[in-house]
Amino acid sequence: MADGTAVLGWAARDPSGHLSPYSFKRRVQKEDDVTIKVLFCGICHTDLHVIKNEWGNAMYPVVPGHEIVGVVSGVGGGVTKFKAGDMVGVGYFVNSCGSCDSCGEGYDNYCPTSVITSNGTDYDGATTRGGFSDVLVVKQDFVVRVPGTLPPEGAAPLLCAGVTVYSPMVEYGLNAPGKHLGVVGLGGLGHLGVKFGKAFGMKVTVISTSPSKREEALERLGAPAVLPSRGGEEMAAAAATMDGIIDTVSAGHPLVPLLSLLKPKGQMVVVGAPSTPLQLPAIAIIDGGKRVAGSGGQRGRVPGDAGLRRGARHRGGRGGGRHGRRERRHRPPREERREVPLRRRRRRHHTRRAGLGSHSRSFWRVGVQACASTVSSCLRLACIRVTSVASCRRLV
Ligand SMILES: [Zn+2]
Ligand SMILES: [Zn+2]
Repeated sequence: MADGTAVLGWAARDPSGHLSPYSFKRRVQKEDDVTIKVLFCGICHTDLHVIKNEWGNAMYPVVPGHEIVGVVSGVGGGVTKFKAGDMVGVGYFVNSCGSCDSCGEGYDNYCPTSVITSNGTDYDGATTRGGFSDVLVVKQDFVVRVPGTLPPEGAAPLLCAGVTVYSPMVEYGLNAPGKHLGVVGLGGLGHLGVKFGKAFGMKVTVISTSPSKREEALERLGAPAVLPSRGGEEMAAAAATMDGIIDTVSAGHPLVPLLSLLKPKGQMVVVGAPSTPLQLPAIAIIDGGKRVAGSGGQRGRVPGDAGLRRGARHRGGRGGGRHGRRERRHRPPREERREVPLRRRRRRHHTRRAGLGSHSRSFWRVGVQACASTVSSCLRLACIRVTSVASCRRLV
């Protein structure tokens, strides 16, 4: 054990978009470490960007993955929260300073020197490698328990996409039964916004520029209503009807028409992160006393522990500190509507170059949905494959 655990992962070695098998070693399990046998890992759009070095920060070889679910296979002597056999998850962060104000308040997802799960630099200088691997060694504070009532493959996307939406909904009171919630965009975050809104007993309206999302929203997700954001009359008719809006769109888009949908004192929460600045004319919020916020860190009310809050920063957090480049990592996809080369790799896991190669229309969705593993993909390392949109959508 002195050399650490030998691990087989899948790594990007260059910006080609291909992953190939990669052997490396995890650190020696420390007193407060949990060793996890990885079973499932979602694919987030951040992974896709880093794999192809689209943000210029890839530290090859990159082992992606930060929506990780697995079984505890070992624990250090100081671990009190977990034991072998527990089903657990790991999200976007694996370490933080533990001494700054944010860490002290339980918001270590806002720690200026927090360490991300993949393609990050830990305090010992090691490059972090994510969940596209068979074993993970993680500090217990960054591990969450996955309840037995959740299918583990469906729980994985909740560790990034899920918490990114859930946290601000609770933080800003967009979880009250009977209230009217607008969900802008029906990518991975939007899907979860609809599901959470319905689960909270809210009236949910999907707001989308794409007519093709209508059937998906109404029939597959059971959203009560769809509002075409380019529908002038329909938008006008819906003015001042919503208590809150979750805006998940990562491409540049006008805010004013969306703000007009809010009732007085309504709350908009932005969880998408366009690369171009959003324009916010003051009068759009002065009139009606409306509020616009970023994703919120939800302290103390999220079941499990701190780990389930961490996605909040993933979408809307701050950069800085020695991880100042993080802002670039979280910058939204420039090529938001570009087809992303991701294809099925069934029966290809024995090939040397597996993973993300050709252009396949069936996986275009993966490219447009940051943190979209809920609806578009999941990765089962036992047989590296990307499942279909339809099959994954059923998982959560
Ligand atoms: Zn993510
Ligand atoms: Zn800190």
